[in-house]
Amino acid sequence: MFKPTVEAASEAASILFNLPEYRVVAVTRGADGGREVFLDTPAVEAGCPSCGVVSTRVHQRTMQRVRDVPFDGLVTVWWVKKRWRCSESLCAKTTFTEHTEQVPPYARLTTRLKERILAALSGEVRCVEAVAAELGVSWPTAMRQLTRAATAHADRAAARPALVYSLGIDEHRFRTVRWYKDEHDAWRRVEPWMTTFTNLATGQVIGVVDGRDSAAVKTWLKTQPRWWRHRVRVVAIDPSAAFRSAVRSWLPKARVSVDHFHLIQLANAMVTDVRRRVSWERHDRRGRAGDLTWANRLLLMRGYDSLSERGRTKLKTVLAQDDPTCEIGAAWGVKEQLRRVLACTTVADAQRERARFNSYVTLAAMPETTRLKKTIDTWWPAIATFIRTRATNAKTEAANVTVKNIKRIGRGYRSHENYRCRIMLYNAARMAA
Ligand SMILES: [Zn+2]
Repeated sequence: MFKPTVEAASEAASILFNLPEYRVVAVTRGADGGREVFLDTPAVEAGCPSCGVVSTRVHQRTMQRVRDVPFDGLVTVWWVKKRWRCSESLCAKTTFTEHTEQVPPYARLTTRLKERILAALSGEVRCVEAVAAELGVSWPTAMRQLTRAATAHADRAAARPALVYSLGIDEHRFRTVRWYKDEHDAWRRVEPWMTTFTNLATGQVIGVVDGRDSAAVKTWLKTQPRWWRHRVRVVAIDPSAAFRSAVRSWLPKARVSVDHFHLIQLANAMVTDVRRRVSWERHDRRGRAGDLTWANRLLLMRGYDSLSERGRTKLKTVLAQDDPTCEIGAAWGVKEQLRRVLACTTVADAQRERARFNSYVTLAAMPETTRLKKTIDTWWPAIATFIRTRATNAKTEAANVTVKNIKRIGRGYRSHENYRCRIMLYNAARMAA
């Protein structure tokens, strides 16, 4: 038969509370209706941290407020903490307090609460404020857990950097430009851009830096060990001269690859430029809904091979009726030919298609198409590398979507460092899963 006793009740509470090394001595209802839990440890002796002599003499007991995980709501936890008196008369440390794995020296939070905060912040894309409120800690406290874990993670990663054969470097804007006053009362621009470094084989973000210029990229590359830099064989970048120069000086064995995505974007921008210029020349105004080419401007940007029969007929009609100088059609043809170049799987095929591309540009004889050809010429070696390796930043772009989500929910981030911590930890958690 089960007989309720004080010991049994205390044991039951301890089991329910489930904090290793602790037992519940009392649970009360506070004045505000909240629950207060009083804990102590069953320890009857402790070794002096200075001399190692075991003491059984309790000098005094103090109450320490400990932050712990909520139990069906927030609970106030008090630790009735023992201060031991050292039994060694020669020891300089006359007294010392107890500590446990769950509450190490100087800790205010239990280890399990810290783990819970970290799991919520690094495993999920949630805003720090909501996690802090749910777990009953302040925003800086929650953020501190994240920063510490990120530092530890960075130290581990720096001690043993994983080999990366193909690296992705990609920029993204993390907010609009802002200005703030520094300590000397001077206005400073807050860099709204960040550059991420990704292992293209896994999609893992391995670095995040402020800015998107050559210096930002160089600074990060410089901190990587020489042997690591010499192993990188392919680097996928946007067609950005700044990135290319950084790669050339710090990744001597790497070939640069620019993917079709950004080049097709440039080609589409070229078609748009031509369409706008033609509209101004013909009507002395910008395009409007009545203009077929304006109304179907998105159709012009689609890949021809992805169009339905109806779409193709429509496109033919648009160009036949609203392009008397054939300039938009010519721009469209140049764009489509570039897509054919980029779809090639061998460099020899690509060279053939490139020759046709060049002849189309010559025939078109427009400043916009000539400018696009210049870009293609400048980046041809990198395009050839892309055709050979198909190294693209697609995975980096995917990581950047996550980054942007973190940014969106983290509206409150003022410091890049906080933001960077979350990105790195989120990625580490994603990779571990
Ligand atoms: Zn001692």
